[in-house]
Amino acid sequence: MCGIIGYVGKNKCISILINGIKSLEYRGYDSVGIAYYLNNKINIVKDTGRIKDLEKELDINTNSYIGIGHTRWATHGGVTKYNAHPHRIGKITLVHNGIIENYLELKKELINNNYKFISDTDTEVACAYIDFLYNKYNDIYTCLEKIKNIFIGSYALCILCDDDTDTLYITKKGSPMIVGISNDGNIIASDISAIVNYTKEYIILEDHDIGIINKNKYIIYNNDNTVNREILTFDKNIDTISKDGYDHYMLKEIYEQDNLITNTIRHYIDNKLPDISKYKHIYIVGCGSAYHAGLVGKYYIENFLNIPVTVEIASEFRYKKLFINDNDLVIAISQSGETADTIEAIKIAKKYKAKVLGIVNTYKSTIARISDEVIYINAGIEVSVATTKAYSLQALYLILLSLNNKINLDNISNDIKKIYDIDYSKYINKIYDKEHVFFIGRGIDYYLSLEGSLKLKEISYIHAESYAAGELKHGTISLIEESTPVIAIITDKNLASKTISNIKEVLARGAYVILICNENINVDSDIYNELITIPDNNCLTPILAIISMQLLSYYVAKKRGCDIDKPKNLAKSVTVE
Ligand code: GLU
Repeated sequence: MCGIIGYVGKNKCISILINGIKSLEYRGYDSVGIAYYLNNKINIVKDTGRIKDLEKELDINTNSYIGIGHTRWATHGGVTKYNAHPHRIGKITLVHNGIIENYLELKKELINNNYKFISDTDTEVACAYIDFLYNKYNDIYTCLEKIKNIFIGSYALCILCDDDTDTLYITKKGSPMIVGISNDGNIIASDISAIVNYTKEYIILEDHDIGIINKNKYIIYNNDNTVNREILTFDKNIDTISKDGYDHYMLKEIYEQDNLITNTIRHYIDNKLPDISKYKHIYIVGCGSAYHAGLVGKYYIENFLNIPVTVEIASEFRYKKLFINDNDLVIAISQSGETADTIEAIKIAKKYKAKVLGIVNTYKSTIARISDEVIYINAGIEVSVATTKAYSLQALYLILLSLNNKINLDNISNDIKKIYDIDYSKYINKIYDKEHVFFIGRGIDYYLSLEGSLKLKEISYIHAESYAAGELKHGTISLIEESTPVIAIITDKNLASKTISNIKEVLARGAYVILICNENINVDSDIYNELITIPDNNCLTPILAIISMQLLSYYVAKKRGCDIDKPKNLAKSVTVE
């Protein structure tokens, strides 16, 4: 989701800010902006669209040493220049990530106090409110202490004040924020990728921390006391954030799965994962693909460990009646470790005294910190907004957990390579110009079809619908017409004959069936138009099927000329509710 950057130091700030927000681009955004002081006067440049366009309006040689920047993912108010950040009211200029839920109420109060607004955002209200408080208290720190009890919602705020043009003021609640530290200056951002080109040392802020950041020092307060947040060192090589000759990050990341999956399995042949077999009931919470990975986990944990598993969409889990207790485990899955809904689900699980196991990619992310135990999937930075490698590793870790440290798997690499070697061109020609595509499967294959159809929708904008194969005739089989593509998945031998019957139902209505099928299942050639054969690798076969669907979606989106790595309206790390 949106990104924040701020810099104060000995170096000219414009290029540092631009590079920082460029590294945040992958999170997804629709507008971009920068504010900086030049000779104590504020300058704001902002617009809808891409950073490369804004860059043309900026001069990297500007003698400015303090500034803030933002990539916006609109939540309140359309995608317009006026709604883009930074916002400025009175002496206050700020960027914000998150949502101020009570902004309408605050706006009324401010209008009664003669404030005028030019945007539709909650952020401009936050800006005005801080100015309003500043006129009373004359001290930004005090204002930030006050807003704790006034602003409802989530926020990471980076603030400039005209009375103190050497200082960045920051605070956060619910949205991530880090401070990169160096002898040359300090840099704040929403995630590590924005600071690593400047410094490898950083601290992570906790909720309600307030930071006063200058070029030579940073002071963090919490509850009116100064606090020392642990200084961490980012030790990965940031060169990994490049396309390595691939046309898109997504393709690169699909191809990384071979090494990542193989190495993960090898690692856990000798090392132990947490034992989850002692729990009475397991809940898995996640959003989007993480939720789909959870469904794969459910299938294996129930079958191998005989423990009932409930998979919940995190945003639903938050608001429903729950029956969990201290004998239960809640597995929370999130690539970024910052997914707002999943974080809140964990807090609820903890109230019920359940144990929480986080499965995340990002080191020291919020979910990693608040879970009782954490598994890092170690996928490396995933730049493509549509997840591939993180999903596969999340599913893989759940499969490994279900094996309860009796891991006897290998030889996956050759099978993954077979999936890479498939020529997808003949399949994509049957899909790329269609408006609707159906995915069907039963059991585990239904769970895979959910992720397959999501992938196609996310990056190609083709409407795709996933159905439990037996359910289609109870629902929307009327939408199957002559040459409607139906992607059918059969990896599970036990359900093959049932799914085949369902395939016949759609064939009878003119569907064009592309069958993704386990090599050890015999199927007659009259039940498909095209066949994609998947090697049989026991409980890893589903992952092979998914990789084939990732590639299929990728090539369809490419043929349609879509912006594959940054699909419209989608954000990588969803830090709002
Ligand atoms: N709620 C704010 C807006 O719509 C901030 C959104 C964001 O996090 O980018 O402007």
